Amino acid sequence: MTRTVYVNGEYVAEQEAKVSVFDRAFLFADAVYEVTSVLNGKLVDFDNHMKRLQRSMLELNYGPKIDEDEFLEFHRKLVSINKIDEGIVYLQVSRGIAERDFAFPSSDTKLTVTAFTQKKKLIENETATKGITVITVDDLRWKRCDIKTIQLLYPSIAKTEALKKGADDAWMTQNGYVMEGSSNNAWIIKGKNIHTREADNLILNGITRLAVMKVAEQLKYRVVPKQFTVTEAENADEAFITSATAFVTSVVKINDYKINNGKIGVFTQSLREAYIKQALDTLT
Ligand code: PMP
Repeated sequence: MTRTVYVNGEYVAEQEAKVSVFDRAFLFADAVYEVTSVLNGKLVDFDNHMKRLQRSMLELNYGPKIDEDEFLEFHRKLVSINKIDEGIVYLQVSRGIAERDFAFPSSDTKLTVTAFTQKKKLIENETATKGITVITVDDLRWKRCDIKTIQLLYPSIAKTEALKKGADDAWMTQNGYVMEGSSNNAWIIKGKNIHTREADNLILNGITRLAVMKVAEQLKYRVVPKQFTVTEAENADEAFITSATAFVTSVVKINDYKINNGKIGVFTQSLREAYIKQALDTLT
């Protein structure tokens, strides 16, 4: 079945969905994005995704503002037209179309807004049952990873490198410290403490990361946001990643070190279950 895609206010068949070669997304990766998961045909944490989108746009001085109600409407419509019960909506907003020039075009340049859906099993799938394995690689990205731009070539290289080495993903490191995964936040559990790096300019402040922090508090687990080294991660009791598509997914091996004997840990599993429960209770 052909998907219906959203392009600047219009709903078109995916083969017909086109944007200009002069779009700044195409020429300069000058675009920001959000991925919102869909469960039971409804959106997970939509408000927070829109808040982060607005922040990304503000940090990059995008002129025009977005109308959140309009964005909610087309997200819902895409989910409905494409019959997405479980999956994602990918949304991209670029600075728009302008003659190729490094300097930003005028601030009233019309934004390019595109969105499409993907069907995906998010709750029950292979990684949820088995966990994932990761390798660590040098983090060669720029210093504004807090802005969710489509500048994703390095994470794409890192992920491909991981797959080539027989792992599922790469954790990116700086000076021996784990920053985050190629497209997710990294966490470890050691004794009674759960650690994930503080959100600054060097990582993306995941919407799932924030939700999981709240869920952990409700379970009376102790989250201590702090950065951790690769060696600490390799010696952790449990490890996991969070993202809109992974939710909470166990990491059972880091480099050559099995975590929790290569099995999904009990705390990680309870966090996953509690996260999914609250997501299902708060759908938009
Ligand atoms: N870090 C990076 C680098 C990411 O690309 C993502 C997912 N886009 C995340 C963290 C997780 O963010 P979220 O929980 O909002 O999906």
